[in-house]
Amino acid sequence: MKLFSLPVLLVSLGAATVFAQSNPSPCLEDLTHPEVRSRQIEVALLPIGSTEPHAKHLPYANDTLSARILAERVAAKANAMGAKVLVLPTMPYGVNSNQAPNPYAQSIRPATLMQFIKDVVEVSEHQGIRKIVILNAHGGNTTTIAATLRELFASNPKVFAAQVDYWISFPEKAKELIKTGGDHADEQETSISLALFPDKVYMDRAVKAKDTPLALPSLRVPYIHFMRPWMYVSDNTGTGDPTQATAEKGRVLVGVFLDRISNFLKELSDAKLTGTFPFDFKK
Ligand SMILES: [Zn+2]
Repeated sequence: MKLFSLPVLLVSLGAATVFAQSNPSPCLEDLTHPEVRSRQIEVALLPIGSTEPHAKHLPYANDTLSARILAERVAAKANAMGAKVLVLPTMPYGVNSNQAPNPYAQSIRPATLMQFIKDVVEVSEHQGIRKIVILNAHGGNTTTIAATLRELFASNPKVFAAQVDYWISFPEKAKELIKTGGDHADEQETSISLALFPDKVYMDRAVKAKDTPLALPSLRVPYIHFMRPWMYVSDNTGTGDPTQATAEKGRVLVGVFLDRISNFLKELSDAKLTGTFPFDFKK
């Protein structure tokens, strides 16, 4: 019978810190209590997805998987550069009120998502983390998260909170690589999914969507906002042409995201939250 396993021996010798630091995962869900205690955390990264239909070839969890995997990868890259980022568990519910008639599309109210984020921020703040980055992977969440930042600015003035909508972090590369339009389960989103979780993408079932035209020509502009009842948006809940998607396009886009956002996380991790942050009068 072995009296001590190696980890137990290390902990019992007071070497818990050395052993604990051997787990490189940036994700809270992967860490043990001693490992968490041994970490110094500057930034909490909160991934938020959704659970909704994504045409015939992507899973309902598409946005949640994207948020979780991108968060883990970008935090690992930032931490390798010396940042101190902890990835919180991924939120799989998003704001999807316009998806309601589609079977089992999950939706929470904007007020619920807002309260969820505020609760996470409050707990993190009590635990000493004042820098929060929300990594969003679902278009229906964007305005709610933006509104939450405004509420937090008033309710938690010592916290710096930022929002990253991952799919707009690489505009020039997307313009160069993505040749067909759409904004849901389309060429771009499917390319990203192929790069991140190819085993859950069914390209043999991907088809070009029959997008439904808008009733008014004046609505076809980016500066007028309105809700789209998603059951009518196309013939298969997706838009655009996912058959043009490739894993290589996705890898390039993800690479740009990782470079840019890991750099942001490193800068934020190193930053001192002065009373005038994010402004700096000395620069
Ligand atoms: Zn999506």
